[in-house]
Amino acid sequence: MNNQSAYENVVVALPDYAVAAISALEACGYEAWCVGGCVRDAILGRDVNDYDIATNAQWADTEKALTAKGFTVHRTGVKHGTVTASLDGHAMEITTYRTDGEYSDGRHPDSVEFVSSIEDDLARRDFTINALAYHPSRGLLDCWGGLGDVDRKTIRAVGDPAKRFREDALRILRGCRFASQLGFSLEPATKQAMWSCKMRMAHVSSERITHELTELLLGEHVHDALMECIDIIGAVLPELVAMKGFEQHTPYHIYDVWEHTAWVVQRSPRTPLARWAALFHDGGKPGAFFMDGDRGHFFGHPLLSVDITRGALARLALSPAFVANVLTLVQLHDRMIPATPKGVKRALATLEGDVELFRALIALKRADALAQSSLSEPRLQLASDLETVLEAVLSTEDVFTLGQLAINGKDVMSLGVPEGPGVGDALAQALDAVIDERVPNERNALLSFVAESATLTSN
Ligand code: ATP
Ligand code: MG
Repeated sequence: MNNQSAYENVVVALPDYAVAAISALEACGYEAWCVGGCVRDAILGRDVNDYDIATNAQWADTEKALTAKGFTVHRTGVKHGTVTASLDGHAMEITTYRTDGEYSDGRHPDSVEFVSSIEDDLARRDFTINALAYHPSRGLLDCWGGLGDVDRKTIRAVGDPAKRFREDALRILRGCRFASQLGFSLEPATKQAMWSCKMRMAHVSSERITHELTELLLGEHVHDALMECIDIIGAVLPELVAMKGFEQHTPYHIYDVWEHTAWVVQRSPRTPLARWAALFHDGGKPGAFFMDGDRGHFFGHPLLSVDITRGALARLALSPAFVANVLTLVQLHDRMIPATPKGVKRALATLEGDVELFRALIALKRADALAQSSLSEPRLQLASDLETVLEAVLSTEDVFTLGQLAINGKDVMSLGVPEGPGVGDALAQALDAVIDERVPNERNALLSFVAESATLTSN
């Protein structure tokens, strides 16, 4: 171990509750430090998610010391030496110094061994930037050169990278995720080991993979991370690999399919729905591609993208409703929607009136156009026009869902249409006619329209 002394010139402002927890433990004769991501993020000036504390006290002693000072303590992971302590609504995980055995669930080590020094505890951590400890009076303890790596914006494994990724393959995806969140690069030996150990990610639970990939997609530097990590994340999302380096041969594009995709993700709203849809929207392009003279074409690619997306997302821990929305966005990303009230109402009807999904679709269309050549500028204007028209439509009483129609399924059946899909079809035709302004949304007019259409069909 590279036992560097504390850096005194780094001052991190810790919140009162974290300082209070450290003081409570040290007043009882133990030692305690803030550790991990909170130190990293505080040095970087980023918002800190949670403050984690490491101590040489056993969990039961931690519980005693902190309850005496007014903390509420929950035994959230005592098998691994962790309790969660809260003061004034602020919760912290406090964990006894330990080293970890294997993480077969990719989340909790199978066995832990408690150790006596903070240095040994830091040595079990994944990356140097996460192996920093900070104490309000002793300052920064940096045994692995984490501060230098923060300065150099580098993600470097603690110790032998391949060994660390064989112990726990989740670290591979964590590294890609930190690259995206922090805008850091992977140190070459660390990257090489992430690449060579990537197939071990098959042992990580789909929940953990899904969580890390979603966080990666939401990262501020997602374009750079996707470009840097495609050969690594390809082991969990092999559907993406064919996009890498796939030239488009069209004046509408300046990037290959993968770099285009990386930019679309970057320029999409920072929501899981928008980002997952952006990641897969052109996944069907390599399969749909053909050349006509010197021009590349991808007719029909959205439907192939839908199949590819469905297959990939089925392996992840995502809700069926979320997946359905991603598939809808992928399918419609390229669909021409006229920026007229009728065009917008028809699109809303297709989306069963889901206004938020329509907004997400417009945002995807905008991000898609932003990642193409200047020939695609009219599509940007179209996205803005769609937004304007959508707001105008929403400010009226105009009808765009079956539920808003002045008739319902019972009315349709009372006209003699037998129960079954015919009822929905009749209502859909009625909605279409109302949107088209061929029939007003009035009960009698709609009943005559349905009766007339039913007669026409039966003849
Ligand atoms: P964030 O909270 O933003 O996700 P973090 O770095 O705080 O980032 P946590 O999952 O909260 O990540 O973990 C806290 C610390 O625990 C990390 O900074 C790291 O030191 C250590 N750690 C977490 N997971 C692992 C792992 N799989 N292998 C080794 N160390 C880990
Ligand atoms: Mg954390």
